[in-house]
Amino acid sequence: MTLALADILAARRVLHGVADATPLVPSPFMAAETGQDFLLKLENMQPIGAFKLRGAMNALMALPEGTTGVICCSTGNHGRGVAYAAARRGIRAVICMSELVPRAKVDGIKALGGEVRICGQSQDDALAESLRLVEQEGLVEISPFDDPRVIAGQGTIGLELLEARPDLDTLLIPLSGGGLAAGVALAAKAIKPDIRVIGISMERGAAMKASIAAGLPVEVEEVPSLADSLGGGIGMANKLSFPLCRDLLDDTLLVTEEEIYHAMQVLFYEDRIVAEGACVVGLAACLSGKFTPNGPTATIITGRNPDMGMFHRIMAGEDIRLGEIIVKGKSYGP
Ligand SMILES: *Cc1c(COP(=O)(O)O)cnc(C)c1O
Repeated sequence: MTLALADILAARRVLHGVADATPLVPSPFMAAETGQDFLLKLENMQPIGAFKLRGAMNALMALPEGTTGVICCSTGNHGRGVAYAAARRGIRAVICMSELVPRAKVDGIKALGGEVRICGQSQDDALAESLRLVEQEGLVEISPFDDPRVIAGQGTIGLELLEARPDLDTLLIPLSGGGLAAGVALAAKAIKPDIRVIGISMERGAAMKASIAAGLPVEVEEVPSLADSLGGGIGMANKLSFPLCRDLLDDTLLVTEEEIYHAMQVLFYEDRIVAEGACVVGLAACLSGKFTPNGPTATIITGRNPDMGMFHRIMAGEDIRLGEIIVKGKSYGP
């Protein structure tokens, strides 16, 4: 299975007018912090509140006539994208999710007409259940990241970024299963081979980074994180997003829960953007000094679907319990 720029250009035609052309806006605060132009690609403005609509639409629109339904496992936003795209095609969507997925994401999927199944404690449990239902109910599985059409759909963000700002030096990409990073890196490097693309995950449960280090897909323990959309494994049988990330990413970095907490406050108080923990890992990497931009830099604000109760507590500077650990609160300000 290979994937090329032509697939991403084809995806763009499918997505035109439905899931494209999100704003790319400057962050004056991050520019002042880093000394470089710093741009935010606002995928939180997508109809489902996350970039996942791109990949899901591109995959569902390619299914043959007569397909009755689709199934996927999801940390929430892929499920929303699949439910939205399935409704547009008039077919069933079944979404398998683990108990770690926030309530708000479950409700969001149901509101779009998706059928939700809660299965087990991890993304791996959800994946096992979805594969069983493929057999039992004749549904077509749509992987959240290891699918050529999903990756091509996410890759259209790379086209938009480089068309808007051909001078971009570095892209900081939130990294989980790697569909987003693989697609964006493929598009960006096809257009501008010397651009740097860096994948960023949370320290606790960074499956792609561990897999790249090991040279093959490995499992990591899945624990609660402020970046809940970055949770879950990459699949032991990963065919596409793993080799693409391994070959195309210039580096992978990890940020802590405290760094994510602070960066969520920065994005809200400085840029006035409501977003999930997963979105701010690029900001967190710069603010913590783990990454130093030396040219125009962009990151992708991947989604705006946090648990709003938790979001409110973080903005108020309260402590947050994540399973076994507590992220110590700190109110925002100098
Ligand atoms: C899915 C998701 C990501 C990560 O995308 P991958 O393709 O799995 O690497 C990042 N942020 C948000 C909000 C997401 O929903």
